[in-house]
Amino acid sequence: MTLRFSVLASGSTGNAFYIESEQQRLLVDAGLSGKKMDGLFGKIDVDPSQLDGILVTHEHSDHIKGLGIFARKYNLPIYANEKTWQAMDHSLGKLTIDQKFQFDMASVRSFGDIEVESFGVSHDAAEPMFYTFRNNGQKVALVTDLGYVSERIKKTVEDADAYIFEANHDVEMLRMGRYPWNVKRRILGDSGHVSNEDSGLALADVISNRTKRIYLAHLSLDNNMKDLARMSVNQILAERGIEIELHDTDPETPTPLYEVSTVTERV
Ligand SMILES: [Zn+2]
Ligand SMILES: [Zn+2]
Repeated sequence: MTLRFSVLASGSTGNAFYIESEQQRLLVDAGLSGKKMDGLFGKIDVDPSQLDGILVTHEHSDHIKGLGIFARKYNLPIYANEKTWQAMDHSLGKLTIDQKFQFDMASVRSFGDIEVESFGVSHDAAEPMFYTFRNNGQKVALVTDLGYVSERIKKTVEDADAYIFEANHDVEMLRMGRYPWNVKRRILGDSGHVSNEDSGLALADVISNRTKRIYLAHLSLDNNMKDLARMSVNQILAERGIEIELHDTDPETPTPLYEVSTVTERV
């Protein structure tokens, strides 16, 4: 018994995350068109009609663009908190009452053998929240779309086997880049996105001996590069004496389905 997951797509052009156990198959966000969502599932060889449900993090279009159409096509239940439902309901099209479920912020809910814990983040949406997933002593943490990583969040996500963690931008690239000032201020602000540096600092605090995998996620296309993100985060981890390989995510290509290993010690 173990958890397996794939970051199907990551970045401001669309986000989707898939996680499965023996009994459950869950999707988090459907931020690309229905057709693209099908294509992503095809690439990891998972049949979307086997999904058990879709969890939503927040109503930004890069997280819900294909949500309504995908949920209708496969008749899937959607889980989101009340304010997120209010903010996104009108844009999803017609859903039946048995497709709409409330999953409160800062709560724990069991989906078969996967225990999902939601936690709030500081981000400019109605009530944005992300998740940790537990099964059989294993833990996977999904953490993107947040302005900063609070101590409360660190406590919730610490000591996970695997992280999907935001490294949105390089601060210098963003400052020097072509974005208008108000957009720069939004991204740099407390309810925007986490920089490479802040990502590294937060990861250094939360990872432990049992951490085996880190995926850097939600990279800005304009203000970051995969190499730069990996290098910046790596450097900060190295300064703390932490050596761990960092993995990329991509806006269009899913990461290969990764099975969380049952080995507890990182070497
Ligand atoms: Zn986003
Ligand atoms: Zn967002």
